[in-house]
Amino acid sequence: MSTSEHTKKVFTLNTGDKIPAVGLGTWQSKPNEVREAVKAALLAGYRHIDTTKGRWTSALAYANEKEVGDGIRDSGVPREQIWITTKLDNTWHHRVEDGINSSLASLGVDYVDLYLVHWPSSTDPNDKKKHLPDWDFIKTWEEMQKLPATGKVRNIGVSNFGIKNLEILLNAPTTKIIPAVNQIELHPNNPSPKLVAYNTSKGIHSTGYSCLGSTNSPLYRDPVLLKIAENKGKTPQQVLLVWGLQKGWSVIPKSVNKERIEKNFQLDGWDLTPEELEQLSNLKDRFKVCDDDWLPVKVFFGDDE
Ligand code: NDP
Repeated sequence: MSTSEHTKKVFTLNTGDKIPAVGLGTWQSKPNEVREAVKAALLAGYRHIDTTKGRWTSALAYANEKEVGDGIRDSGVPREQIWITTKLDNTWHHRVEDGINSSLASLGVDYVDLYLVHWPSSTDPNDKKKHLPDWDFIKTWEEMQKLPATGKVRNIGVSNFGIKNLEILLNAPTTKIIPAVNQIELHPNNPSPKLVAYNTSKGIHSTGYSCLGSTNSPLYRDPVLLKIAENKGKTPQQVLLVWGLQKGWSVIPKSVNKERIEKNFQLDGWDLTPEELEQLSNLKDRFKVCDDDWLPVKVFFGDDE
């Protein structure tokens, strides 16, 4: 396979499983949009869907597992051909087994391919401003590690872990399984080279979220990106996705628009040159879509850069 067949690419995880390089994101999709979006994506060739339990994660929760399951069934694509990632919400850290059981019931599937600890924050479900007094993500991971043996989960991983929290997790005596994936914010205004390198050094695959810069992305006004897109005859979104793929991480662009879903998957037959990759990796502006100010604990310490 030539390197530019981006949509057929998979990344091999530390478990040996292969995650499709391009997935559909579903955050901020409104009710009734996700089912159609998932169906459209699968019919366009996507084989990877990213969702979350998300009864509560932030002001903009994305509790859409049921619709994702419906969209998968509507598409007619066999379950075993699809990579499904879902996440353990912060208020479920002390009830991991209940969390996965509830996600499987909502999705209407027997297993998920990847189950992530959504944030390193064990939040009290009765008071979301409080961290659970008797719990932390090390204990959550202890419970997560029991899941692969149940057959309900093929791979376990984390999300929004910076270097400091990864070190705490990896150095804990109870940690026996290295996370397969760390899903983190990655786009040219938040390229996080140190964190990506740290993940790689530990055998942890990086998945880039908000890979287009999310809703109302300021990246679309960036002259360097616009120039590269124009020269290539590609959309800025296609350039952003290929940038991430060539940098070595999987990407999960969100769209609920059939045409944009299809366009975001038209990535084959071309590459960015080393100079173009370099230019995009060195944009001056910086911004982050997801901060930690809504959580009861700080999770970003500047070590996610
Ligand atoms: P993205 O970077 O994927 O951008 C999504 C936005 O871009 C939407 O407004 C979408 O609008 C628009 N868009 C998509 N394609 C195009 C296109 N071709 N042209 C113009 N506009 C386009 O943002 P997200 O923040 O949603 O991140 C992607 C996914 O990552 C999420 O959906 C979620 O699955 C995951 N995520 C995980 C987090 C975590 O904590 N682990 C946090 C945040 C996201 P429209 O739908 O109208 O096309």
